[in-house]
Amino acid sequence: MKILVVEDEQKVANFLQKGLKEEQFVVDVAYDGLEGESLALENEYDLILLDVMLPGKDGVAILENLRSRKIEVPIIMLTAKDMVVDKLKGFEAGCDDYIPKPFSFEELLARVRAVLRRHSSSGSNVLNFADLTLDLISHKVIRGGKEIELTAKEYSLMEYLMRNPNRVLTRTMITQHVWDYNFDSFTNVIDVYVNYLRNKVDRGFPQKLIHTVRGVGYILKEGDKK
Ligand code: CA
Repeated sequence: MKILVVEDEQKVANFLQKGLKEEQFVVDVAYDGLEGESLALENEYDLILLDVMLPGKDGVAILENLRSRKIEVPIIMLTAKDMVVDKLKGFEAGCDDYIPKPFSFEELLARVRAVLRRHSSSGSNVLNFADLTLDLISHKVIRGGKEIELTAKEYSLMEYLMRNPNRVLTRTMITQHVWDYNFDSFTNVIDVYVNYLRNKVDRGFPQKLIHTVRGVGYILKEGDKK
């Protein structure tokens, strides 16, 4: 899952980036409103954490612009403690949640998970596909009763595949959801990671789940038994 953090306070931004990365999210950070808005328009994020008071363009204006363009990405606003209730009500319709500063990371993480859960088709913290299970909280991946040890990047890729079963995922889509904006898309890194993942998830199982769609990308599906 890829999250955009738009926050001008470097300390807060770094704290969010570090904490979310430790929770296996892929994180892009923008330190001003204009950069944040252009990233939000160019990329397909799974969630945006949007500060209200920002240089360049404030968070409420960004929220309104995204919603007017029918960009329905879940958004959690980071608000000042003394923000008046009327104003909160005003933009509540457009955002999914708001959290007053200062907040603890645990509190923020709980809100992030709740919003993502509401937006996911399963509505649960556990994703299932065939005999594969992925726990979004403990980050455990189990196949056929056996735990599979994955690196952070392999886990992100697995999660993205499991959120989109039976759907062809292009390399561009995978890049957008699993790698941050420093990613060099001219490399074959995606194929390399898919192969790492296959070696861990499919090797030794008669039923292969990760399949190549030649010239396009990859698909998670129950294929023919070999
Ligand atoms: Ca701010």
